[in-house]
Amino acid sequence: MEVIRMCVACRQRKPQKQLLRLVKLNNEIVVNSKQKLSGRGAYLCSDCINKVNTKHLSKIFKTNVSEENLEKIKEGMIDDKSAK
Ligand SMILES: [Zn+2]
Repeated sequence: MEVIRMCVACRQRKPQKQLLRLVKLNNEIVVNSKQKLSGRGAYLCSDCINKVNTKHLSKIFKTNVSEENLEKIKEGMIDDKSAK
């Protein structure tokens, strides 16, 4: 059975495996792929990860997301994909 989650950016419902879980950890947004991290999490689809800007992310997580942080998220997404 597939788990369906909603992307917080485009609000489309997609299978969880097509989405990336982002978690706010120590005022930084990290990609939560391996273990379940607790904290404020949100699902974003890969399309939105590529399109999203820091302003939008800051709004979603109610924190100040830096350009650097966004770059890390994108890098993390690539790592996650190549690991499979
Ligand atoms: Zn999306």
